[in-house]
Amino acid sequence: MRVTFLGTGTSYGIPMPGCDCAVCRSDDPRDRRFRTAILVEAAGQTLLIDTPPDLRSQCLAHRIRKIDAVLMTHAHADHVFGFDDLRSYTNRMPEPMPVWASAGTAQTLRRIFDYLDLPPVPGTTLARIDLRVVEGPFDFNGIRLTPLPAEHGRADMVGWKIEHDGRAFAAIPDCKHLPPDTVDLCRGADLVVIDALRIRPHPTHMNFDEAKAALLEIGAKRSLVIHLCHEVSHAQATRLLPEGMAPAHDGLQIEL
Ligand SMILES: [Zn+2]
Ligand SMILES: [Zn+2]
Ligand SMILES: [Zn+2]
Repeated sequence: MRVTFLGTGTSYGIPMPGCDCAVCRSDDPRDRRFRTAILVEAAGQTLLIDTPPDLRSQCLAHRIRKIDAVLMTHAHADHVFGFDDLRSYTNRMPEPMPVWASAGTAQTLRRIFDYLDLPPVPGTTLARIDLRVVEGPFDFNGIRLTPLPAEHGRADMVGWKIEHDGRAFAAIPDCKHLPPDTVDLCRGADLVVIDALRIRPHPTHMNFDEAKAALLEIGAKRSLVIHLCHEVSHAQATRLLPEGMAPAHDGLQIEL
């Protein structure tokens, strides 16, 4: 299984437009963060977690040739506003692209992208999506997919556990609190990545201390944090985390 971090930043991205802070002006390429999305390749399949507003640029930067299915985490703007960019891939697929989402996320997607259940005007194209509400673990072409409920403000949020060939990867990019069942599902995974927005507390995101505590409780073989804001540089984030934990950065690729 190969995991590629297409984006690792919070909703503003880094640099944040109009900001002259040290992190937004940093020369370190790891301080440039697109909004959060993760590509997972396993069993000959390419799965995408979330469709941020930067999706088009991310697909071009990584020369992504195909996307077989999408796993949505929640319907905040920074995770869904690139949804329509799936069209270039769905145009070349024989069947509509499967997209899994929680009930609340699916409802919001249908409201924002109100063409989802309409046929295209003849001679035009629309993203051809098979939007499916996820209710529990399921198999997709030999890959085991398990939704991981998490608390994240008012969002109907699910992270995802992806298992194939004895390897397990879990991603919960936005969260304030992980219920015990989700912690249990993540235990023993080869790689876990969760939200660590900044050092100061935030009402709907974990800060570094909260993320560290959650990752210690999970005890994965390798732990990363994601969804960073411009208050923390990559170098500073690295120093804030103990051995076995690190900040993700755009373009980071991990083979499991
Ligand atoms: Zn987010
Ligand atoms: Zn800044
Ligand atoms: Zn969010």
